[in-house]
Formats: sequence, structure tokens, C-alpha cells
Amino acid sequence: MVDRFDRVRAQIEGLPGYRRTRPTTITSTMPLVGDSVTYVIESVRDQDGEIMAFLQILDTEGGMRLVLPGKVVNAVVAQHERLFDRSTPDSRARSKRQRELVAKRTADHERGKHDPATRIAKGLPAAMAGCPLCVGPARLRKAS
Ligand SMILES: [Zn+2]
Repeated sequence: MVDRFDRVRAQIEGLPGYRRTRPTTITSTMPLVGDSVTYVIESVRDQDGEIMAFLQILDTEGGMRLVLPGKVVNAVVAQHERLFDRSTPDSRARSKRQRELVAKRTADHERGKHDPATRIAKGLPAAMAGCPLCVGPARLRKAS
């Protein structure tokens, strides 16, 4: 019988833009119960960058096969990130100020406010501190 698991796998098999990992097999023995359960998990990334997962669960009573859609995989990843998040209101405010500064510097740079020649003439360093566009190729292009 062809179930959803097989159907979805058959649909994406060989499609361009899809990448899949090799299956990972994990055998876990529950404490107390002692029953051993085997999990086989495989992730697939589609052409839009969404990741779905194929999960097979095998125990003494049989097996189960699940397709976890991208939204479910994303929820798991987001939950993991929340569990490891050590940010505080202060650190979030600092990152927000940093992002706002970068946005302001970028806007100023695009308006031509960071012209290296003008800055040097004023006795300032050629690059504006905190401007992502004043470093790297953008500056080299402007200077030449
Ligand atoms: Zn700049």
C-alpha cells in the first residue's frame, strides 16, 4: 500500500532543486520501560529552502512513518533556539540599536555622505565607523 510517506517521497524524488540528507538511525531505549525504539530521520530541502523531514519509528508493536512539513520542522528549530536563547531585554535593546545604526550608516552611505576623499580632507579616516558599505569592494570602487 502506498501511504502519504511514499507518495510525498515519490513526488520529490529526482526533482531539481531538492537536496536530501542520508537517513540517520537512532535507537533509543526508554528508561523503566526498557523497550527499544528505532527512529530513522531524513531531512529534505526544497527549491524554496523549506525543510521537511521524513521520520520512521519502529518498535516491538510495529512502525509508523511520518512526513513532517516545513512548518513543523521550523517550529521545532524555533523552539530549540528559544530554549538556548540567553538574550535579555538589555541585550535585545543593544542589538536593536546596533541594527538601527547599521541601517542609518547604510542610508547615509547611499546618499554619498561617506565620500572617502571628503572624509580624508576633513582629517577623518576614509571609512565611516559602523558602515557596512565603507568596507570591502564598495570602498575600492569608490576610491578608484
Ligand atoms: Zn559608508
